[in-house]
Amino acid sequence: MYGTGLAKGLMLTLRHFVESYVDDIRYGFRKYHHSTDNFGIRQGTQTKGVITVQYPDEKVAVPERFRFVPFLIVEDEDHPTRAGKDWCTSCGICAKVCPPQCIWIVRGNDPNTGRPVPEPEAFFIDIDICMNCGYCAEYCPFDAIKMDHDYELASYDRTTHHIHDKERLSKPNSYWRSIAPTRAYEEMLARGTWEHKDAAKEARRGAAASRASAPPPAAERPAAPQAQAAASEASASGETAAPAPAAEGATPWTEDEAKREERRRKALERKARRAAKRGS
Ligand code: SF4
Ligand code: SF4
Repeated sequence: MYGTGLAKGLMLTLRHFVESYVDDIRYGFRKYHHSTDNFGIRQGTQTKGVITVQYPDEKVAVPERFRFVPFLIVEDEDHPTRAGKDWCTSCGICAKVCPPQCIWIVRGNDPNTGRPVPEPEAFFIDIDICMNCGYCAEYCPFDAIKMDHDYELASYDRTTHHIHDKERLSKPNSYWRSIAPTRAYEEMLARGTWEHKDAAKEARRGAAASRASAPPPAAERPAAPQAQAAASEASASGETAAPAPAAEGATPWTEDEAKREERRRKALERKARRAAKRGS
């Protein structure tokens, strides 16, 4: 019958209209509050009715996985040793994988030696060409480039405002942790530290060096004169001196010897695996 579809459509519109007011009463108007924690209420599966967001006066919070243009992570200003330092090592992987090729990196050089240093001297992204695919963030081996939530980037001058330079791209690590806490936590678990990979490595190396330069434990120090005298007496009488008990926590090898032993063991394992493969 003619007009049935029209009547159904009008009924649906009427239902949404009424549900909007029912929903407002149900949530006590919290839906319209200008806070960012009402995302679940406004866009949850239970929400019904028509919602009008009074943009730009009010904005709906974006979900954590939302991605707009990329930004670069730098250390927080209150970091004890690396304040303001880039996480980017200018390896160039993001520029290589970027489908529309909108990333341009200039690698830094040491002014004294002229040798390349793992820091970008310049970093540009043309945000008009960027298609927000997130490949750069996915492929970065140092978690140094991330997708931002800031989508209000329109301007009238594309040449000065839409080519983001390093200064514009750089944002502190704490910002990334605030916009994507779950993701940042998962990355920390995968990296094994909240720190940059290289910073954590340097810290481990520093700790190992300070351990190596520390005075040896009491068990390794030269024996006291009385003990030496007793030992020479024992050797003169042909007795074999009993080995001194190992100090608590002491190992029979130094750390380097232990590492060499570990490498030798792994090499033997590899050799055995190769031999087994050849045999099969
Ligand atoms: S992949 Fe990561 S570390 Fe490498 S240049 Fe890009 S942002 Fe920097
Ligand atoms: S989000 Fe995609 S298009 Fe944009 S810079 Fe990264 S890789 Fe390139």
